Amino acid sequence: TLSDRLTSVFTSLRGKGRLSEEDINATAREIRLALLEADVALPVVREFIARIKERARGEEVSKALNPAQQVIKIVNEELVEILGGETREIRFAKNPPTVIMLAGLQGAGKTTLAGKLARWLAAERNTPLLVAADLQRPNAVTQLQVVGERAKVPVFAPQPGNGVGDPVEVAREAVEHAKRANHNIVIVDTAGRLGVDAEMMQQAADIRDAVRPDEILFVVDAMIGQDAVNTAQAFLDGVGYDAVALTKLDGDARGGAALSIRHITGRPIMFASTGEKLEDFDLFHPDRMASRILDMGDVLTLIEQAQRTFEEDEVNKMASKMASDEDFTLDDFLEQISMVRKLGPIGNLLGMMPGMGQMREQINNVDDRDLDRITAIIRSMTPAERQNPKLINGSRRLRIANGSGTQVGDVSGLVTRFFEAQKMMRQMKNGGMPGMPGMPGM
Ligand code: GDP
Ligand code: MG
Repeated sequence: TLSDRLTSVFTSLRGKGRLSEEDINATAREIRLALLEADVALPVVREFIARIKERARGEEVSKALNPAQQVIKIVNEELVEILGGETREIRFAKNPPTVIMLAGLQGAGKTTLAGKLARWLAAERNTPLLVAADLQRPNAVTQLQVVGERAKVPVFAPQPGNGVGDPVEVAREAVEHAKRANHNIVIVDTAGRLGVDAEMMQQAADIRDAVRPDEILFVVDAMIGQDAVNTAQAFLDGVGYDAVALTKLDGDARGGAALSIRHITGRPIMFASTGEKLEDFDLFHPDRMASRILDMGDVLTLIEQAQRTFEEDEVNKMASKMASDEDFTLDDFLEQISMVRKLGPIGNLLGMMPGMGQMREQINNVDDRDLDRITAIIRSMTPAERQNPKLINGSRRLRIANGSGTQVGDVSGLVTRFFEAQKMMRQMKNGGMPGMPGMPGM
């Protein structure tokens, strides 16, 4: 996987003072293979690699980051860039209703997305109207009505007298109806075919011309991989669109489609759909997708969070402690746990770090309530005990448990866990694990 590849590249880069041409080439090769495996289209991969190489060569050697982190940072930044940089939001019409039209192949997830979008917009105090302009399949209208009911958003559907059989007429009347009934947003669901065909394109183009949408969204299934690029291009030529909604991101697609579509069509990805439920929907965040494509943990975010959260001197103190021959004590343990806690949910945090399985298990078992208990226990120890927990025998354990309002078992558990951490720290000091400057225990 991409994750494995990049992790191994980065591991081999570890410890080097700066990036050599060889390093850059080797890294570029791995990233290239990895992107191809993630289904990113070849021309996009080529250009991406060229940019990474150029930047890696030109980059000043950062004091704050080691070479591996530096490459991660560059790759991450370039991925975010190629995915569109900022999150793009809906452009609302000056004079309501804002008309949003959905286009895409059958099964892409348009109808589902219509419901999700309606629900999402309604939650922001909008009054959307769903429009059933897919009259191709017998059940399409009913499907939208079901979705509308779940989203608690009204559906405009063809009835005798309002243009049965003609999706263009339905769409046109829906917009008129929205004006009268004060719907500030109209979401037009349209028909799709299994493959791109001229008739379908023409119908979508006719609907477009009838309602002149403020936003046309091309809805595409992220699972279709390389094919997504061709479909995206065909819809761009046939109907045109302002932005893309990527669906089925809950599947195991790596997101290569996202990268390719954005790059090849120049259209931003606006929404991400991640499941069958109406709530499985959000604005598309390029930075999150970049992490997903890297799938190696959002190391950069971690570094940044660490830099923000830690008092600098705290970090330095811990770093010099780590570098020194002094042993890791319970006081350090306490400090380390609370530093890690400041970074956010502990379980997630270590999941962000590649190769952190062992440490993760250690700290994963610590939740906030645990942490209060641990703090109380360590505070109930004498300074001598904190420096040398081997002193803590049965009677001391009882005294500490009573003093901290915990059980003797809690005290023993903590001491055991501490010895494990201490052992791990010794191994790490001896270079047993990928290091991160300024990260306690990493
Ligand atoms: P349409 O033909 O473009 O209108 O596509 P539909 O909205 O009918 O969706 C086709 C199928 O994909 C349905 O079974 C949906 O439940 C499913 N679907 C849509 N979006 C998602 C998604 O984000 N994740 C998953 N897992 N399934 C989805
Ligand atoms: Mg549909």
